[in-house]
Amino acid sequence: MTTNPLVERMQSFGTTIFAEMSSLAVATESVNLGQGMPDTDGPLEVAEAAIAAIRDGKNQYPPLIGVPELRHAVAEHQKRFYALDFDPDTEVLATAGATEAIAATMLALCEPGDEVVLFEPYYDSYAATVALAGASRKVVPLRPDAEGRYEFDPAELRAAISDRTKAILFNTPHNPTGKVFTAEETAFVAALCIEHDLIAITDEVYEHLVFDGRVHRPLVAEPGMRERTVQISSGGKTFSYTGWKIGWVCSTPELISAVRTAKQFLTYVNGGPFQYAIAHGLRMPDAYFAAFVEDMQAKRDMLVAGLTDAGFDVFVPEGTYFVTADAAPIVGHDDFDGLDFARSLPERCGVVAVPNVVFYDNKELGRTLLRFAFCKQVPLLEEGVRRLRTMGAS
Ligand code: PMP
Ligand code: GLN
Repeated sequence: MTTNPLVERMQSFGTTIFAEMSSLAVATESVNLGQGMPDTDGPLEVAEAAIAAIRDGKNQYPPLIGVPELRHAVAEHQKRFYALDFDPDTEVLATAGATEAIAATMLALCEPGDEVVLFEPYYDSYAATVALAGASRKVVPLRPDAEGRYEFDPAELRAAISDRTKAILFNTPHNPTGKVFTAEETAFVAALCIEHDLIAITDEVYEHLVFDGRVHRPLVAEPGMRERTVQISSGGKTFSYTGWKIGWVCSTPELISAVRTAKQFLTYVNGGPFQYAIAHGLRMPDAYFAAFVEDMQAKRDMLVAGLTDAGFDVFVPEGTYFVTADAAPIVGHDDFDGLDFARSLPERCGVVAVPNVVFYDNKELGRTLLRFAFCKQVPLLEEGVRRLRTMGAS
C-alpha cells in the first residue's frame, strides 16, 4: 500500500502528545511532569473495594449502563455536591473513562457537517472525536489577561456560533490552562446555549480540583440547562486511579439513550470491579475531598514557585493538575517551536513537559507555553524544579 491507509479525517491526528511524552520520559529517564497521572496510588480503601469486588466474583460484564452501585453513587454525589437530581436508572450512564463518554457523545449527537464550539487550548480528544463524527470544530481562544488569568471574549464566543452549530464543549476546571470558569462566564455560556438551542457537552473530570476556596459550577445547574446538557466526569483524577477508566455521563433520559446507543458499540462495558470501587470513593466523607484538594493546592504552590524561580512566566492555575508556564523569558521568543522545545527538554535538563501548542488551532497563541503536571510526590517536583533551574542558568 503506497498511500496512507488512515482515513482522511484522522490524518491530522498523529500519536497523542501524552503517549509521546510519557515514552520520551521513560526512554530518557527524565522527571515526567508531562502526562497528568499521579505517581502514587489513591486511597487504600478505594483499592480495597476493587479487590473485594474481584474476590466477590464481580468479574463478568456489568450491565450496559453500569452497575447500580455506581449509578446510585454518582446520583448521590450530584445531589450532595451540587444539589442536582439525576435518576440513577435513566439519567446516569457509566463509561470507559471520560474519554469514551466524550467520543460516544460526539458520535451520538453530531451529524456530518455539524459544528462544535470548543475553547482553545482544548484537550486533544475533543478535536479528534469531532472529526470522527464527521463534524467540524470552531475554536474560541482563551487568552491571559494582564494578571495572567485566562479569559474568553464574549463577542468571539457569540461569533463562533452559526446555524450549523450543534454543541458547545465546556471544560471546567480547564485542561491545560487550569482556568475555573466564573459564575458570570458560566451564565453567559448557558444563555448562549439557550438562545441558539445548543447542546452543552461538559467535561468536569477535575471537578474536585479547584483551589483557593473557589467552587466548581456545573453548567447543567444553570437555569434552562438541565434539558440540554450532557455532563461528563470520571473517577480517575478525583481518586488518583487514572488507569481504571471509570467515567460517567449524566443527562436527560433521551440524551443518555442517544449516548448509550453509540457507547454500546465502542466498549459495550468496562472495568466491572472498578465500578464498585469508584462507587465507594464517591461516597467517602467530605474530609477526603477537602484533604485531596489541600494536598494538590500545596503542590501547585510548590511548582508555581519553582517554575517562577527557574525563570518561567507562570500562569497560576485555579484548578486541575496542571500549571502552564511561558518559556520565552528563558529561551527567547523567536524561532521557538513549542513541540520541538518539549522534545528537546529531556536532553536540555532531564524533564518532560507537554507543549501547549498542540492544544491550539491558532498555534501562535501557545507557541512558547509548556504544561507541567504537579500531581506528583514532593521530592519529584523538587527534583524537576532543580533540573529546570539549570536550564535557566545555562
Ligand atoms: N478530559 C480532560 C480535560 C482530561 O484531562 C482527561 C484526562 N484524564 C480526560 C478528559 C480523560 O479522562 P479519563 O481518563 O477518565 O478518560
Ligand atoms: N488527561 C491527561 C492529561 O491531560 C492524560 C490522559 C491521556 O493520556 N489521554 O495529561
